[in-house]
Amino acid sequence: MGKREFLMNSQKFWEKVSLKKMNRKQWELLCDRCGKCCVHKFIDDDTEELLYTNVACRLFDPFNCTCKDYKHRVPECMVLTKDDIKEFHWLPESCAYRLISEGKKLPDWHHLISGSYETVHQTGNSARGKTIPEELANADLTKHIIDNY
Ligand code: SF4
Ligand code: SF4
Repeated sequence: MGKREFLMNSQKFWEKVSLKKMNRKQWELLCDRCGKCCVHKFIDDDTEELLYTNVACRLFDPFNCTCKDYKHRVPECMVLTKDDIKEFHWLPESCAYRLISEGKKLPDWHHLISGSYETVHQTGNSARGKTIPEELANADLTKHIIDNY
């Protein structure tokens, strides 16, 4: 993190500014880069539970846990905006946007607490190294459903 980010961190802006009122920099700093929003998911029709698969978007780099071409994202790529806050309960339970929208604290492994973008991976809270690419997946993605990340 750079000097400005550290300053914002020390002020714990996420505890003082609502999601709606965050500026662009603050909003983007919240993302922990876990990559969980880059894997294919389903919603169970009966329970409305969010089910994860181990199959990632074709642009997902499984080793770096990043998008290989963010400027040219796939059409179905989910970009979070302030207009979607009421839908954030569909995000992964560990997602910082969901946590803040539910009035919860950021976990210790979040980079704004730990000071490192590595801790989300080191503590197993990301999709890094846990996914396979679409081209290796069964056509029936429900066969790739996993417990969680
Ligand atoms: S799940 Fe949330 S915190 Fe994780 S990468 Fe996606 S938007 Fe960022
Ligand atoms: S286009 Fe990039 S950011 Fe969007 S889901 Fe795919 S890998 Fe993730």
